[in-house]
Amino acid sequence: MVVGAGIVGLAHAVEGVRRGLSVVVVERDDRPVGASVRNFGYVCLTAQTATALEYATTARQTWLQLAEQAGLWVRDSGAVVVARAEDEYAVLEEFQAVRDDVVLLDASQLRQRVPTGDDAVGGAWFPLDLRVDPRRAVPALAAWLAGQGVRFHWSTAMHTVEPGLVVTSRGEIKAGATVVAVGHDIDRHFPDLAEQAEHRRCALHMLKVGDPHGRVIDPAVLSGFSLVRYDAFRACPTVPALRARLTEQHPGLLEAGLNLMLTQCPDGDLLIGDTHAYAVTHDPFRSEDLDQAILEQAASLLGAGPLTVKQRWRGVYSSAPEPFLTGVPMPGVGLVSVTSGAGMTTAFGLAPHILDQLLA
Ligand SMILES: Cc1cc2nc3c(=O)[nH]c(=O)nc-3n(C[C@H](O)[C@H](O)[C@H](O)COP(=O)(O)OP(=O)(O)OC[C@H]3O[C@@H](n4cnc5c(N)ncnc54)[C@H](O)[C@@H]3O)c2cc1C
Repeated sequence: MVVGAGIVGLAHAVEGVRRGLSVVVVERDDRPVGASVRNFGYVCLTAQTATALEYATTARQTWLQLAEQAGLWVRDSGAVVVARAEDEYAVLEEFQAVRDDVVLLDASQLRQRVPTGDDAVGGAWFPLDLRVDPRRAVPALAAWLAGQGVRFHWSTAMHTVEPGLVVTSRGEIKAGATVVAVGHDIDRHFPDLAEQAEHRRCALHMLKVGDPHGRVIDPAVLSGFSLVRYDAFRACPTVPALRARLTEQHPGLLEAGLNLMLTQCPDGDLLIGDTHAYAVTHDPFRSEDLDQAILEQAASLLGAGPLTVKQRWRGVYSSAPEPFLTGVPMPGVGLVSVTSGAGMTTAFGLAPHILDQLLA
């Protein structure tokens, strides 16, 4: 039994099917509307380290396999980091010196891959990164799993779980083993474990805008702000200096946790974002200032005039100092939450480990 039909829950369902298990998924909403459909669809392998990199490497293969088996929209597109100042390019040089999966780009090579403003000095190409369609991947995966014999109970909330049994809003369901993959709501069911892990909710501003250039932008596009956010860049010696310069130049944006990036949807529109705010419980009110800052920065990154907003939304994901919150709180019950904001990148690598642990 899997509780939660986001990417983490469905990754466990995929792994269960691969192992020949009979799988049931319980989801409180009538379709997936959580973090797994609100993100960039960026399978961000290159910027991961340690266990997350290991999981991302496995997950890359699984996404590519599922593209064929389940007909998912998956682009083997790579990602591009646009350096808009010499100190950003310096970090990329340092990163490339220790990673053989990174290719440096001069300004003209960069512009062949992505549209940029005149201030772009060069960049880097991460060929192993993928893109999926965040709005369709998880629903399409659920439909494919249903075709493989997985039983879905939509609009059914889990109330409690105990060894061999899940009590839901529609009655009890017996289960040999249960994976609780309820994303950022892990603290609703396991408050002590969540508190121990210093679990919080990370809330992010996102927007969908028209493509100002009307051109195909195949890779995910990252910026200098991304270089001070992802773990993999932390070891680069000049990151502290870059952070100091960005903080001085854009104090509000660093405070808002801006990771300026974008991906193109299959319909040509661009997903742009994002900011990061951390709390156990967030205020419900979105600040227009942050949206304006994202819009201005994204337009500048693209070398474009004012962008046309089509949609705005808030995403929320699980956050904690460790990248994964996992545990077996009672026999036959596993809990799993990706707490690093990289569930699309890592879930398919994480799921085999969780099932090994749970079914051992
Ligand atoms: C704006 C944004 C951008 C991001 N960008 C990226 C990116 O580009 N790449 C990347 O790798 N990651 C990205 N992430 C992170 C990624 O989206 C998450 O790590 C991932 O989607 C988490 O998946 P999940 O299945 O745990 O959570 P969710 O997708 O939220 O799914 C949890 C599910 O559990 C259900 N549920 C909760 N409680 C119950 C209950 N009691 N009973 C039944 N069902 C329940 C919920 O309804 C929900 O459907 C981003 C996240 C956000 C918010």
